[in-house]
Amino acid sequence: MSALKRIPLAGVIGSPIAHSKSPRIFKHWLTKLGIPGYYIPMEVSSVDLEDALRHLPQLGFSGVNVTIPHKEHALGLADQVSDRAAVIGSANTITFLADGKIYADNTDGYGFVENLKQNAPTWKAGAGPAAILGAGGAARAVIASFIESGAAEIRLANRTRSRADALRREFGIKVKVFDWVQVGNMLDGAKTVVNATSLGMVGKSEMRVPLDGLSKDAVVTDLVYAPLETPLLAHANSIGCETVDGLGMLLYQAAPGFERWFGMTPTVDDALRTAVLR
Ligand code: NAP
Repeated sequence: MSALKRIPLAGVIGSPIAHSKSPRIFKHWLTKLGIPGYYIPMEVSSVDLEDALRHLPQLGFSGVNVTIPHKEHALGLADQVSDRAAVIGSANTITFLADGKIYADNTDGYGFVENLKQNAPTWKAGAGPAAILGAGGAARAVIASFIESGAAEIRLANRTRSRADALRREFGIKVKVFDWVQVGNMLDGAKTVVNATSLGMVGKSEMRVPLDGLSKDAVVTDLVYAPLETPLLAHANSIGCETVDGLGMLLYQAAPGFERWFGMTPTVDDALRTAVLR
């Protein structure tokens, strides 16, 4: 009797999870590549996270993405951790190894850099100072990716300064902390500007930053992707800066997991953007 063919399975775990765009990304790639697999959104509470991660391999799952609020917790539960997940301090891509062990990776920094490389082809992390607004989980991934990509100076401002100071202590002397009210000065001479706060998102306050000191050759990007053109990007566009929206980061960070779990390399293109935005 021939062995039953295994149906490739992966998914995303978070709480809440209904808003997640990841199932659309994976469905698009599975359909396009003709893979008879499934990617399932799963609402899991913090107390159940460990049980879920230990049992999913037995149910045939190859891996899962992990999103808010489980990214740090998932890293702590892993049996093996990638270098970049250790540096970022959280996991978003979990792969179940052949023996059922949990391998944790973080692809947010990869997604961030790939989005800039693909959508602002002349952009270079080492071209000059990077200015980052925000000091939460996403900012950690952005700082780590700038350091890995060769940035010499990373300027950081956060509403709660102590969180930015903590990142300065952790990531070292390349990080220079500015007061939140000094953001205008922080942008002076910056070559990349990143909004890694939730300001500008639908339903949140607008990001109000004086861009007077910003040079036209700076690339401005926003991690917020709803709306696609945030007030910060619209303002930066109006003064002639190149801008890159945050949707690409979301799309690129999903690719390494897809490749690991479903065995084929997916592409990020306009058809995917359209499918995700539909
Ligand atoms: P987080 O850990 O909760 O951090 C939130 C950040 O926003 C903190 O720096 C916080 O400052 C700041 N903030 C919130 N409200 C603010 C306000 N009213 N004024 C000034 N600063 C404010 O969240 P996160 O995971 O880092 O995510 C940050 C943003 O990035 C979210 O919008 C998220 O959706 C987006 N994101 C996008 C992608 C992508 O693929 N495009 C990936 C990850 C995250 P305090 O420290 O002072 O509270």
